[in-house]
Amino acid sequence: MTLTLADVTLTYPDGDDRLTALDRVSLEVPAGTLTAVVGPSGSGKSSLLAVAATLVTPDSGRVVVDGADTGSLDRAEKAALRRERIGIVFQQPNLLPSLTAIEQLQVMTHLSGKAPRGARGRALELLDAVGLADRAGRRPHQLSGGQRQRINIARALMNDPAVLLVDEPTSALDHERGAAVLDLLITLTRERSTATVMVTHDRAHLHRTDHTVTMDDGRLTVPERV
Ligand code: ADP
Ligand code: MG
Repeated sequence: MTLTLADVTLTYPDGDDRLTALDRVSLEVPAGTLTAVVGPSGSGKSSLLAVAATLVTPDSGRVVVDGADTGSLDRAEKAALRRERIGIVFQQPNLLPSLTAIEQLQVMTHLSGKAPRGARGRALELLDAVGLADRAGRRPHQLSGGQRQRINIARALMNDPAVLLVDEPTSALDHERGAAVLDLLITLTRERSTATVMVTHDRAHLHRTDHTVTMDDGRLTVPERV
């Protein structure tokens, strides 16, 4: 098991009160599988990803990433875990406007403090995996929305993460491009053995995921087979 959430509760301050964003959520995502999370806006889907990403510390419960119980890690150790073992794809592909596609990926190696040697080859391999090897020299404004999202995904894989967390990757795409991005995520999950969690609004292609769970008012309801 590469990602485990066990009985996780997360609250946010809400005036004099607390708002329960995650209510005793448990989830296991084995390596090489993709779990889709669906549910209404405000139900806690992004909070679930933030906790899994160790960006937010839950009030209670355990988050185990690639064998590491994150509750016992300090800030620096969590930051290192995020850099080395977790790939995060946010809703908006926040690419750097002045960098080419390949440079967007190479930056990740630089940020992780690893030797740049091999980064170019790895970046090219990943661009190829997302079908954009021939766009390596393009800057974001020279790419379509779907292509930018694929670069975003390739970038998240640059440090070979064990866990891949993806928030609404298809929300800015039309149906066909959304389907292509989901296909790509499923393929990459299998090939690279990531434990992948994908939040989505788009229920159209859920039959192709390994599991689908529903968030409702902070609660994860019984897995459904779609
Ligand atoms: P979703 O991604 O399903 O739309 P979120 O996880 O973003 O849901 O939000 C779940 C609930 O937590 C919502 O009621 C939202 O308003 C609240 N919330 C999210 N982030 C914060 C925050 N940083 N501070 C306070 N409340 C928040
Ligand atoms: Mg959200």
